[in-house]
Amino acid sequence: MIQNPITWPNGARCACAITFDMDADSLIHIARPADSTDRLHPIAMGRYGPTVAIPRILDTYKRLGLKQSFFIPGWCMETYPDAVEAILQDGHEIGHHGWIHEDPIATKGAAQEEAFEKALETHKRMTGEAPRGYRAPVYNITQQVIDLLVKHDFRYDSSMMADDIPYVVKTDGGQLYEMPVHWGTDDWPPFAHYDEIGYLMPVRGPSAGLEGFWEEFEAQYEAGGFFMLILHPFLTGRLARWRLVEQWLEATLAERDVWFAPLEDIAAHLDQVDGMRVETLPYYTSPQT
Ligand SMILES: [Zn+2]
Repeated sequence: MIQNPITWPNGARCACAITFDMDADSLIHIARPADSTDRLHPIAMGRYGPTVAIPRILDTYKRLGLKQSFFIPGWCMETYPDAVEAILQDGHEIGHHGWIHEDPIATKGAAQEEAFEKALETHKRMTGEAPRGYRAPVYNITQQVIDLLVKHDFRYDSSMMADDIPYVVKTDGGQLYEMPVHWGTDDWPPFAHYDEIGYLMPVRGPSAGLEGFWEEFEAQYEAGGFFMLILHPFLTGRLARWRLVEQWLEATLAERDVWFAPLEDIAAHLDQVDGMRVETLPYYTSPQT
């Protein structure tokens, strides 16, 4: 089923990462800068993440003995230092997720470099080390960002979709691991409803919204692959949804042969793996017409 399987530590059948992007209310400030500060409804929706959902998620992870990865824009780290401290206190990884969730397609050149490096400085100051991983806001990674990641010695990206399992992204200046994302394992489609950014979809019920994720897990488990969820605290950290995720985690840990790890640990493991598939960038160097 998978052409280039990866052998996981201790003979585990599947590597698993339940990752969270803690965007909080950065989304409304970047989308509506002219009057975002008076849009209390979306601000409050976002604040639920760091203030209510993060303590709940951390509590579950601590109880189950899990260490996982959180991607946080620099502005969110500065605005919600208590959430950052709690995440670090429990030994989780924090990855780079832009400065204020600026879309790299819309923020290019010197502006992208400035935002990227400003966030990097915040990470270094607040976590005591440089981030090892990056996930592009709205997955919109560009060649410029790839080059910035290589320049700053990042180990991995988690924004692209060219395989089912981790692969190598090779570019002129160096290489990264790609921890591939997919909309089928992202909670935005089933659970987000956000008028101000033009996203109006019917919100699915908790079990209906999550059931596609568990089918994705079964396929990866059967194939000996890699199962990663891309979740948002203000969406899946809500009471009914997290209760179901927690029940799934408990059952999976008890009954399945899985390796739950932060992405930085998975990247470190990949250093020992031979024969990974390679994607060479840039994909294109001139307009395709
Ligand atoms: Zn995000």
